[in-house]
Amino acid sequence: MINSDGILDSAIYIESPFYNQRPQGTEINLLVIHCISLPEGQFGTEHIQNLFTGKLDCCADPSFACLQGLEVSAHCVIRRDGIVEQYVPFHERAWHAGVSSFEGREGCNDFSIGIELEGTDCSEYTDLQYQALVNTTQQIQVNYPSITLPRIVGHSDIAPGRKTDPGSGFDWERYFSKLA
Ligand SMILES: [Zn+2]
Repeated sequence: MINSDGILDSAIYIESPFYNQRPQGTEINLLVIHCISLPEGQFGTEHIQNLFTGKLDCCADPSFACLQGLEVSAHCVIRRDGIVEQYVPFHERAWHAGVSSFEGREGCNDFSIGIELEGTDCSEYTDLQYQALVNTTQQIQVNYPSITLPRIVGHSDIAPGRKTDPGSGFDWERYFSKLA
């Protein structure tokens, strides 16, 4: 269930400073699936949480240099063990999509919800992640019924040429078969 604060009952809520209001009157009708790992390919670290809360030590790994000053977030992160962390209430605008468009409409952050799976483009996701993703999606669909299957996409679909996540390791058929 999503509570009156826009937070999933089943999630661990960790507030991010990186969000703002959606344009007034915007219907939320798109779900964007991403993946992230920090450093790339390493799982279970605190770095994702630190990135989304503005606390990342950019010297902790050489690959973090390019993340200096980056202000990004997602509504939820689903860890390898299926734990769901929520960073931004669903009715607020998280900063996950960047330059993007869906069916000709630009700025997908305005009207979408973003979920990050802890992983990489080419590694398989865990059973627990699929279970948690299906469960989270179903709960989101209760509150936002306009998010139908054709309106659930990958970051790569709304930012082609710029983004590749969630990658070939993500099994869309498996995910959609559980939602249907
Ligand atoms: Zn992404």
